[in-house]
Amino acid sequence: MDILNESVALGVDLLIFGLCVREYVHNRRVVGLLKTAPHYSIDGDLKGIVERRQAEGLPVYAEIRGTVTPRGVPLRSALAPGVSGVLQILKLQEHRVARGFTGFWMEHRKLLFRSANEMPFELRSQQHGVEIVDALGAAVLDVDVVYDHYKLSTPSFHDLILGFFTGIRQRGLQTTEEVLRDGSSLTAIGRLQLVGGSLRMQPSPEAGLFLTTATKSGLIQRFEAAKWPMILKIALCGAVSGFLIGLLAKKLYRKKRQQKEEARIHSRLERERRERRARSRPAAPLSDDQLCVVCATNPKEIILLPCGHVCLCEDCSPRIAATCPVCRGKIVSKAAAFIA
Ligand SMILES: [Zn+2]
Ligand SMILES: [Zn+2]
Repeated sequence: MDILNESVALGVDLLIFGLCVREYVHNRRVVGLLKTAPHYSIDGDLKGIVERRQAEGLPVYAEIRGTVTPRGVPLRSALAPGVSGVLQILKLQEHRVARGFTGFWMEHRKLLFRSANEMPFELRSQQHGVEIVDALGAAVLDVDVVYDHYKLSTPSFHDLILGFFTGIRQRGLQTTEEVLRDGSSLTAIGRLQLVGGSLRMQPSPEAGLFLTTATKSGLIQRFEAAKWPMILKIALCGAVSGFLIGLLAKKLYRKKRQQKEEARIHSRLERERRERRARSRPAAPLSDDQLCVVCATNPKEIILLPCGHVCLCEDCSPRIAATCPVCRGKIVSKAAAFIA
């Protein structure tokens, strides 16, 4: 079909548009929640506040800041000696250049290995603490890179030949280790809960959990800055959608107009044929059994097969397609009948 390409393009564009809008709405919701999240200091009062809000059935989405304190022996860094923390992420990435479909070589990174490890920890301020639950699942997790090593690969002749045919060449391997150090100051924004007399913070279903060494305003700024590329993408996708809808509407309108014109020509030709037939019919009056059984005006002119009944005129014939009006037999074909 001639509108298939435009329809597929419009479908894909609307899908991307929908995803961009969803991303933007999520970004705005997160910014709204971050802005309205009150700051509570970790002290004796916090339990009381959370207890009262919980008793009223209200979730407590708040910001707290404290010192990362492990509950037990802290994790030792695997690659950086002397560094310990409560959460570590090890990554091995391959840097590669791949020939894209345009023929250019583009640099890519491929994650070959990732290992994450965490232990129970809390944010403390003096004598009080709040346990952080599911830190690895945080929407934002700012941790220190304590080890970063890049090893450039030296390709052999065989690798070069292989790379030429597969379109992928390895540049090097990067090993990194990220650690959330114990003793560092951390801002956490999430849902506070009082469970069994102790406070804990976990991801909220609306926005998740945010753990950053920066401040809340810094975090909001980061989300605000991310909104502009989204708006640009939405505007671009919207413009493309508008253009494609316009193109489709134009094509459909033209097609409809063409069909109308064809129908008009067809009916004019049919009318002319009828008039010609009427002129060529015998002028003498016909007896009843010589007249078409449908219109009872024109002579019988068509033979129905296989039953063989001659009972229709040429004008009525197109309207009778399934069964013979005389014997109800199935019509397989029709032919002009010449009665001499
Ligand atoms: Zn007729
Ligand atoms: Zn028949």
